Amino acid sequence: MRLSKMHLKTLREVPNEAEIPSHILLLRTGMIRKLVSGVYGFMPLGWRAIRKIEDIIRQEMDRSGGQEIHMSAVQPAELWEESGRWSVYGPELWRLKDRHGREFCLGPTHEEIFTDIVRNDISSYRQLPMNLYQIQTKYRDEARPRFGLMRSREFIMKDAYSFDLDQEGLDKSYEEMYDAYDRIFTRCGLTFRPVEADSGAIGGSNSHEFTALSEVGESEIAYCEACDMAATVERAACVDAEASQAEELPMEEVHTPGTKTIEEVAGFLGLSQDQTMKALLFVTYDDEGKENGYVAAFVRGDRELNMTKLVNALDIPEHSIEFADEEQMGAATGCVGGFTGPIGLHDCKIVVDSELPGMKNLCAGACKVDHHLKNVNYGRDYKGDIVTDIKVLKEGDTCPVCGAPVKHARGIEVGQVFKLGIKYSQSMGAVYKDENQKDQLIVMGCYGIGVTRTLAAVVEQHHDDNGIIWPMAIAPYHAIITVMKPDDETQAQVAERIYDELGRAGVEVLLDDRKERPGVKFKDADLLGIPVRITVGRGAADGLVEYKMRRDADKEELSIEDSVARAIEVVNKEK
Ligand code: ATP
Ligand code: MG
Repeated sequence: MRLSKMHLKTLREVPNEAEIPSHILLLRTGMIRKLVSGVYGFMPLGWRAIRKIEDIIRQEMDRSGGQEIHMSAVQPAELWEESGRWSVYGPELWRLKDRHGREFCLGPTHEEIFTDIVRNDISSYRQLPMNLYQIQTKYRDEARPRFGLMRSREFIMKDAYSFDLDQEGLDKSYEEMYDAYDRIFTRCGLTFRPVEADSGAIGGSNSHEFTALSEVGESEIAYCEACDMAATVERAACVDAEASQAEELPMEEVHTPGTKTIEEVAGFLGLSQDQTMKALLFVTYDDEGKENGYVAAFVRGDRELNMTKLVNALDIPEHSIEFADEEQMGAATGCVGGFTGPIGLHDCKIVVDSELPGMKNLCAGACKVDHHLKNVNYGRDYKGDIVTDIKVLKEGDTCPVCGAPVKHARGIEVGQVFKLGIKYSQSMGAVYKDENQKDQLIVMGCYGIGVTRTLAAVVEQHHDDNGIIWPMAIAPYHAIITVMKPDDETQAQVAERIYDELGRAGVEVLLDDRKERPGVKFKDADLLGIPVRITVGRGAADGLVEYKMRRDADKEELSIEDSVARAIEVVNKEK
C-alpha cells in the first residue's frame, strides 16, 4: 500500500477526551474514530489490526474444534424472558421496539440465542459435544463508557458456547478453551495472567478471567508468589482472623461525640481499628426499580466490604443495590448515620462478615447519635441473617491457599471462560436423548474475548513516548519503506524494488511515498508503530539503505538485498 493513496489522518495533539496511552495513540494514529461516547469506528490501519486479532482467534478456536457461525445483534425479548434475564439484566441492556411494539434488545452476549439453536437442532447424544462460536458486535449501555475501546458501548467480542453431555464433558471443553485462550493471548503479544473469577451466586471454581497486566486496567487481582493462587479481588477468598479466646465483658454504652468514622472512634476510645466493627448501609430494588428493602453489612473496622461477595450472599443482581440515604433508612430501621451498630436495628437484613463471630468485645455504633457500645459480642448481643465472607483480600493479607502474604496487581480483563452448567438448558429446555431415549439437560460453558479491548490492551503494553510498537503478529503492516526524496529517481526506483520484493515474499508493506519532509515521515512511522522500517535516502545511489526495527534504538546501513532478506526473515519468524 502506498501512503500517498491511503486514507490516513494522524494527529500531532493529544485529543482532550483521551486519558490513557492506548486511547490517545489509537486516536492520534487515526486508527479509530469516535462517533459518540463509547461508539467507535475503525479506519484502514486499525481495522487491519483488528482482523489480525480475529484471525488468530479463528485459528485457535478452529484448532480446538470450534465451529464459526454468525448470529444477529438483534435479539427478541421472548428468549430473554424464557431465561429470566429480561427483567434482571438492568439498564446495560440496550432495549428497542419494532413498529408493532414488539420488544427486542441489541445483544450484550448470546447465551439465549445459542441455547435456542441447540435446543432446536440437537436431539441425540450422538451429536454432542459441540462448540459454536462467533465474532460479532455486542452492545452494552455502560454507565461509564471510557478509555476508548477499553470500555465502550459497542464492541467486538468473540463468544463461544460449548454443549456437553455431562459435567465431565464440560470440564474437558472448559480446559480446551482455557488452553486456546492461553495460546491466543500469547500470540497477540500480551503479558497476562489467568485468574480465578467470580461466578456469581453459583460459587465454586467455575470461571477464570484472562487479565493483561497494566497499571491502567480496571481489574484488580490478588496473587501469591509462594503458591499459584491468583484471583480477582472480587473473587479472592479471605482468611478469617483467628477466633479470640477472651472472656466476654459486660456491654457498655459510651459517649463518643462527633466520632463518625472508625479512625475517629478508635482514636477517641484508644482502641485499635480491629477492635471495632463498621456498618455499611444499603437499599435494594426489585425488578421494576422500586425499593424493596434495606441491608446493613458489618465488617471489622480495619476491613473493606467486598461488594461482589455481598451481592452474591444476598443472591440479587448487582444493579439492584445502592448505598442508602441514611436519614431515610434511619426512619425505617433505626440506623443512625455514623453511629450504626447491629443492636437496635429492625426491618433490615443484617449481613455479618464471617470473622466477626470469632471476635470478642468489639466496639460498635449504638444506633444513637454520639454514642457507641463497647464489648459487643456475637450471639449474646446480636445475630446476622447471613454470616459469610464479605470482605476484601487486601495486599499483605494471608493467602487463602498457603498462608503467605498476597500481592495485588492491576490488569485489563481481555477474556473470560465460564462453566454455565445447566443454567440455560434448564430454563430454556435444551435437552438431548441419551442411549436409553431419556431426556437429559445439555451442560453448557461460555467463553468470551473482547476483540476490540484486546487491541487496546496490546497498545497499552506495547508503546513508547513516540507511538505504538506493534508485535509483528498483529501489526497492520509488517514493514514501512520511507523514501526521503520521492522526486529523486534513484531513490524512487530502489524503494519500488524493495516494495515489490517484499510484497512478493508475503511481507505486508507500506511505502511512504508522500511528498512530506523526512521529519514528518519518521514521526509518523514511529507513531504508527510498523515493526520494520527501511529508509531509502542518499545511500541508494550506492545500493545502501537504512534498516531499523521500531522496537530497537539502533539502525544499520545494509545493502538493498540484505535489508530485504533481513525483513523477510524477521517477519516470517514473528508473524
Ligand atoms: P467487565 O467486567 O469489564 O464489564 P464483563 O465481565 O462484563 O466485563 P464479559 O461478559 O465476560 O464481560 O464479556 C467478555 C469479554 O468482553 C470481556 O472479557 C471483555 O474483554 C469484553 N468486554 C466486556 N465489556 C466490554 C466493554 N464495555 N467494552 C469493550 N469490551 C468489553
Ligand atoms: Mg467478564
